[in-house]
Amino acid sequence: MALRLFNTASQQLEDFTPLNAPVVRMYTCGPTVYNYVHIGNFRTFAFQDILRRWLAYRGYQLDHVMNITDVEDKIIRGAMAENKSLREYTQQYEDAFLEDSATLRLQKPERIARATEHIDDMVEAIQALTEGGHTYVSEGSVYFRIATFPRYGRLSRLHVEGMQAGARVDMDEYEKDDARDFVLWKAQRDGEPGWDTPLGQGRPGWHIECSTMANKYLGDTLDIHTGGIDLTFPHHENEIAQAECISHKQFVRYWLHAEHLIVEGQKMSKSLGNFYTLRDVLQRGYSPEAIRYRLTAVPYRNKLNFTFADLDAAETAIDRLRNFALRLATGKFKEGKCPEVEARIARARAEFETDMDDDLNTAGALGAIFEYVRETNAAMDSGEFCAGNVEDAKALLSAFDRIFDVLTPTPREGSLSDAEVDALIAERQRARMERNFKRSDEIRDELAAQGIILEDTRDGIRWKRK
Ligand code: AMP
Ligand code: ZN
Repeated sequence: MALRLFNTASQQLEDFTPLNAPVVRMYTCGPTVYNYVHIGNFRTFAFQDILRRWLAYRGYQLDHVMNITDVEDKIIRGAMAENKSLREYTQQYEDAFLEDSATLRLQKPERIARATEHIDDMVEAIQALTEGGHTYVSEGSVYFRIATFPRYGRLSRLHVEGMQAGARVDMDEYEKDDARDFVLWKAQRDGEPGWDTPLGQGRPGWHIECSTMANKYLGDTLDIHTGGIDLTFPHHENEIAQAECISHKQFVRYWLHAEHLIVEGQKMSKSLGNFYTLRDVLQRGYSPEAIRYRLTAVPYRNKLNFTFADLDAAETAIDRLRNFALRLATGKFKEGKCPEVEARIARARAEFETDMDDDLNTAGALGAIFEYVRETNAAMDSGEFCAGNVEDAKALLSAFDRIFDVLTPTPREGSLSDAEVDALIAERQRARMERNFKRSDEIRDELAAQGIILEDTRDGIRWKRK
């Protein structure tokens, strides 16, 4: 079955094929670095990671660009309040974002582009729009006249007929359903930072940043553009208007939007004050893998309700998978290949792939894997699993983990590496053989203190992390 994705533009599931296979050209709206990113934001970034990984699984090669919004209304307010340069102010949050993304095992896009390093490109884009008759100047700022782009509002199904001609906004973000001429270039005022350009002293608006960088690195037509659902209007609508008025070509073939992470029915957001950063949640003792699991387990077009009980359940679910992996690695099974098991593995893989191809139905894919693990554990208990099935079973688990990436525990600070644990266990065995019980007890205590659990099984000693 082919990969199908829900395109916001058509409001339908569509078969996915890139324009120039095997390369997929994809653009993601990155963070606005004025504070720590919260886990609601990470829901959207985690969706993009699953999308990347699934495209790679299906043999595509990614050319993925993400911007860092490092000049914008909120950033300027924050930097001015702290008396810092833009760069000083944004760098700390950009670093934190990249660090948190790595903690959550989000693959890095092929290119990360900062808005402030593309001012000249944006100025050129605005000049091209002016040549095309799409702009006007008011009090030194340049605005996009949306009446010059009849398709305006199509992505978000907004009816713009009722709008006041010439009504405009200066803010980077504005209210839903408030279609207005939007600002491309803001004239400098009140000690705000600015760049000296042919458009005057000033700075770009938020919207021009994304379409300009997307087109610069990915060409006129992108395969995929992603973001959170709240970006559909006005941000993405404005990106389309800007890009298509310059290139006269379709800007984006597939628009994918992630639904919100919510807390008690409300969107998690900085302005509502109901947010947790990744650091907040880690401090409560949850593992990065559990958070990653939770953020990706709900299919991206469903709202994700955030609770700590669900994070506990995620820890348990991951444990079950790790125990299964350990059993595959260390269990002793009868010789040969059991055909029923072989068929069961093939069915689980087919179900997993079908669900992921179905608009990244992660809940279905996880369900298929857990059902298979449950049945296979039962087969092992009753001696109906064979040594000849181990390789296939391992291959399936690693295929699963290429996408979900939760099987390897994140080392806790100051913790022993796997090799160190193995060495200590071997030393403890030797100490016991030499009847040096003092040393063997010391090692047992040290391992226990590190949260390493030893199990004496028929097949020898095996261990796992708590
Ligand atoms: P921002 O830094 O505000 O530009 O947001 C970065 C990304 O996170 C955008 O794609 C937003 O749409 C997305 N986002 C913001 N809040 C949430 C939320 N509560 N749940 C999911 N995604 C969100
Ligand atoms: Zn954007």
